[in-house]
Amino acid sequence: MAKCIRCGKPASVHLEGLHFCSDCFKIHVEKEFEEGIEGHAVGSRLVNAQEKVLVAVSGGKDSMVLWYLMHKHNFNIIPVHLNLHYGFFSEKSLEVVKAFSEKIGQEVRIFSVKDDFGIDMEGVFKKAKNRPRCGVCGTIKRYLINKIALDLKVDAIATGHNLDDGASNIFKAILNWDFETLSRNSPLSPPYKDKLVKRIKPLYRLSDAELKAYADMMQIDYTSEVCPYKIGSVTLSKSKEVLNEINEEFRGIKRTFYYGYLRNRDIFKKEEAELKECKICGMPTSSEDGICSFCKLTKDIENEKEI
Ligand code: AMP
Ligand code: ZN
Repeated sequence: MAKCIRCGKPASVHLEGLHFCSDCFKIHVEKEFEEGIEGHAVGSRLVNAQEKVLVAVSGGKDSMVLWYLMHKHNFNIIPVHLNLHYGFFSEKSLEVVKAFSEKIGQEVRIFSVKDDFGIDMEGVFKKAKNRPRCGVCGTIKRYLINKIALDLKVDAIATGHNLDDGASNIFKAILNWDFETLSRNSPLSPPYKDKLVKRIKPLYRLSDAELKAYADMMQIDYTSEVCPYKIGSVTLSKSKEVLNEINEEFRGIKRTFYYGYLRNRDIFKKEEAELKECKICGMPTSSEDGICSFCKLTKDIENEKEI
């Protein structure tokens, strides 16, 4: 029987060729979370104990673990869930988030794209019929969560993006020599003027498999339902698969790859062009015509062909 690499007792968690007993696995996950908050390999701390943080919770394993850990470590957090009204998927997400809120006795703020912001996602998808729905939804979610964060006057937005997300994103960006992504992908995105709230990804040191094992061990409920509109990028999911395959053979290479990028990402740094203010909503935009992609997707405007 394999022994725990930390204490030598019989191991019950076996991941990436490492073996842990359950107590040591919990310590390992919390240590990686703490080092994530401290910004190891990033170069600066993601967030301080005094800062107020909006935790974006989708109901999936990553953001539920994030909520649990931020709560456990006494961060000043406001959990926020955005109801997209995607039938059973959204009902299940809402149910999980509400049940967890009751379980740990912490209020979660629920916002509805339809009732609070008057957005009909079906209408948005029709308008942007040439764009993948997953990307369109991402634009709407990012914009609205930032808007909620501004209204709630928080200092940061935390999301559940994990190590596999970060590493596969960079791997895909290198395959495509996508310098735009390489220049700005980080677990810490600074605020922009008073318009874009700082964004942090405290789970960037924990893998998909670690987060799943931890959620199961700690009995943190989550939904495994896949979003009906998730026709994710083929290159991205393939990148995840390939990285994990290489990692099976060359243990730890996924981390070496990603942390190496984080330590050296300044080599991809570009002069940031000054952003314009959207003619409709005033938010920062790089769009040529001065109308941000959120407004193009949700407002009645003439040049819809550019969506
Ligand atoms: P995704 O892009 O769906 O993989 O989600 C990435 C992160 O965005 C999640 O880990 C959450 O932190 C956040 N998120 C996604 N969907 C929602 C939602 N409906 N409400 C709140 N946060 C969300
Ligand atoms: Zn706008």
